[in-house]
Amino acid sequence: MAVAVEGELNVYKSAEARFEIAAARLGLEQGLYRYMKYPEREITVYIPVSLDTGQIAVFTGYRVLHSTVRGPGKGGIRFAPDVSLDEVRALAAWMTWKCAVVNIPFGGAKGGVICDPAKLSKAELERVTRRYTASLLDWLGPERDIPAPDIGTNDQIMAWVMDTYSMHVRQATTAVVTGKPLDLGGSQGRKQATGRGLMICCNKAIAKLGMRREGCRVIIQGFGNVGSEAALLMHEAGYQVVAAADVRGGLYNERGLDIPRLYEWVHAERRPLAEFPGGGETLSSKEVLFRPCDILVPAATENQITTENAHRVDCRILCEGANGPTTSHADPIIEGKGIFVIPDILGNAGGVTVSYLEWVQDRQGFFWREREVNEHLEEVMEHSFDEVVRYAETHRVNNRIAAYIVAIDRVARALKLRGFYA
Ligand code: NAD
Repeated sequence: MAVAVEGELNVYKSAEARFEIAAARLGLEQGLYRYMKYPEREITVYIPVSLDTGQIAVFTGYRVLHSTVRGPGKGGIRFAPDVSLDEVRALAAWMTWKCAVVNIPFGGAKGGVICDPAKLSKAELERVTRRYTASLLDWLGPERDIPAPDIGTNDQIMAWVMDTYSMHVRQATTAVVTGKPLDLGGSQGRKQATGRGLMICCNKAIAKLGMRREGCRVIIQGFGNVGSEAALLMHEAGYQVVAAADVRGGLYNERGLDIPRLYEWVHAERRPLAEFPGGGETLSSKEVLFRPCDILVPAATENQITTENAHRVDCRILCEGANGPTTSHADPIIEGKGIFVIPDILGNAGGVTVSYLEWVQDRQGFFWREREVNEHLEEVMEHSFDEVVRYAETHRVNNRIAAYIVAIDRVARALKLRGFYA
């Protein structure tokens, strides 16, 4: 991908750049700054797995525990061919800030395995998952570090993680992972949680900007867990989803896409999004980002909006579903266009919020109805949105830096109370 600035696509650098700006604005003491700048621990594991052919392949996996200052580490496991330690590091740091923005008692962590899940059989995927989990036995645990699904992983994989961990510790430990199947201690509402959280933020943003939901044009890049659930909920709520894309291509229809049917097409019939009959104009996964709309929701992957293309973004609200879809170098371009940004660590925090509720339910052994889960989620998201926007307005910083400041300040206060054990 062409970019104007060298190193722009290193997500760890992007995460670091925002941390630096926020820490400086906050006037963070040097000791606290140094403590928070680095992760607590990182591990690389080499995972030998027998393939269906009988051959042994060795996969590389990572787990980064960024912070346990406010509680156990929390963060997904990504299975993708381009996973790197820097990426996992960035994602782990973002988890720390995200959990702090929405004020849930978790730190931040993330894991990944370099593999292409589409090219592995179900049995191979299970063996990769189990061996990766077994390699991390001393790291994981309901009070230590709690994984969840991310790109390329799902509820079945979380079930295998839970089972492997439970076999080793000799007791069923549902709270070691979140995003599990409902029959195994999963929470009602978890599947929709990230998408619902995005919609709650959009509802708040349009009310703030004096916009109406009816006729409000939304574009969503990414049609997996986050993007497709957001599309469905927003469509049901009266927004008009005019474009959507998955990795293979996108569709644009100024009259609005039939999202429930498109959802069926992609998820039940397992067909490529762009081949949806009568859907509209086909265009590339990237081009959907530049069509005019009121709300743009990048919900696919990192580094989609860069210095090369940020000037082409044509929306009033940028609501980030993916982690790190905008590079730090592109931030000033987006700000210069006057776009109202709902940054990733706020916008997509609905997922981890309901993961927290899942962990609470697993530990208490009592499960709530979906309505109760959604009510909790709404309260957390609305309150967090208000806090970030209020901070931004009072201190004249953009919403992203405000979210980082709220988060860093919360971690710093917990750290001061704990003291430095050194
Ligand atoms: P997923 O694997 O379920 O879906 C990813 C979607 O993005 C798929 O539709 C895929 O085809 C599409 N995609 C991938 N690369 C693309 C590209 N270059 N252009 C266009 N589309 C592309 O993953 P997910 O769980 O929906 O996660 C998406 C993003 O949201 C990631 O950045 C993830 O870290 C973040 N996130 C996920 C959750 C969650 O609860 N699942 C929570 C917070 C943040």
